[in-house]
Amino acid sequence: MGRLRSELFFEKAQKIIPGGVNSPVRACKAVKSNPVFFERGEGAYLIDADGNRYIDYVASWGPLILGHAHPNVIAEVYFASKRGTSFGAPTWLEVEMAELIRECIPSMEKVRLVNSGTEATMSALRLARAFTGRKKIVKFDGCYHGHSDSLLVKAGSGLATFGIPSSPGVPDELTTHTISLPFNDQEKVTEAFEKYGSEIACVILEPVPANMGVVPPKEGFLQFLRDITQKYGALLIFDEVITGFRLGLGGAQGHFGIKPDLTCLGKIIGGGLPVGAYGGKADIMSLIAPEGPVYQAGTLSGNPIAVSAGLATLKELKKPGAYARLENLTQALEEGIREILKELSLPYQVVRCSSMLTLFFTDKEVTDFQSALSCDTERFASFWQGMLKRGIYLPPSQFEAWFVSLAHSEKEIEITLKALRETLREVG
Ligand code: PMP
Repeated sequence: MGRLRSELFFEKAQKIIPGGVNSPVRACKAVKSNPVFFERGEGAYLIDADGNRYIDYVASWGPLILGHAHPNVIAEVYFASKRGTSFGAPTWLEVEMAELIRECIPSMEKVRLVNSGTEATMSALRLARAFTGRKKIVKFDGCYHGHSDSLLVKAGSGLATFGIPSSPGVPDELTTHTISLPFNDQEKVTEAFEKYGSEIACVILEPVPANMGVVPPKEGFLQFLRDITQKYGALLIFDEVITGFRLGLGGAQGHFGIKPDLTCLGKIIGGGLPVGAYGGKADIMSLIAPEGPVYQAGTLSGNPIAVSAGLATLKELKKPGAYARLENLTQALEEGIREILKELSLPYQVVRCSSMLTLFFTDKEVTDFQSALSCDTERFASFWQGMLKRGIYLPPSQFEAWFVSLAHSEKEIEITLKALRETLREVG
């Protein structure tokens, strides 16, 4: 499996693009490799610049829940682009999208569309601070909420992969308002509220973190956060950029039955094109300009092509049986991995929530960022390379989720498990 063209492209890319990539997570440094340059996606498969085929579990980091180039998504993108690429004025599609979101996630009484997950969380924070008149925010170590200044403290995803605790260039004056706590730790949250309760504008979290690998909340943790924020008059923000429409039509909040004040979406609602959204209680959302004074805007926000791709994706997900199929496929993958680990007497942890899964290379239970950091990242690197060699494209970091799509079938799961058995036999 040669990758000559990928290597050549990367050599050139590094001379003109920082690190050769337009988002750090695409670099394969942590797995001691160069990135693969892709040319095409077909359902569950990716085809690289040298014509090699891979079963894809990155799914563009979550959005492609239908797989690559789903015919209905492509058709809607085509028809939408024939009507014009952008108007800088409202379209009915945006209303349709907002209504569909509210129908599935009723806590989002009012919705504003933006262009990325970063914009959604950044804007939700500003809104929470404006609504409460408070400055401090609480987040959790290893959660990633995009790259806005206040949120780049002990974050997951690329920062975890590259060991960047907080980014240079973010003024201390801002990060002093960010309190980052261990996930699943009720005691630490209680202490923070006892100390700063009247200054905390919001608690923001991934209800099921996927950016330190998949780490489900402990029983009662989300309800505890709902209760303590209510008690102290702080807002609860669910960053469902990954979990929204991934854990089911109702996202994590539907799955666990917890109603946040604000919710951030991205990824799946854009069907592979750039879209984000934030929304929540009508009285809070009414503070957003032009209804209220909190400013937030976007030249391409609610772009008709992107929204069309998102609507086509959500319509597929609404078809009966879509989530049951995702659940069954991913469960088969999980069970297959467990069997292989048992057969090879390896102590690693498989953690799954719906169609997201992480194989942690540690013998410790992973409940937060600290325990995730106990993973053997060297071994993960060898594992990733072994899987790539066998035509399986996994996220190039221990601290990420693998995503199963509706384009995967039992056949791809079987091929993946065969490759996994061989690779683990090789790398241990
Ligand atoms: N929140 C979460 C939970 C995410 O996983 C991400 C991106 N991986 C973001 C926010 C930021 O989204 P974007 O990359 O679209 O800005």
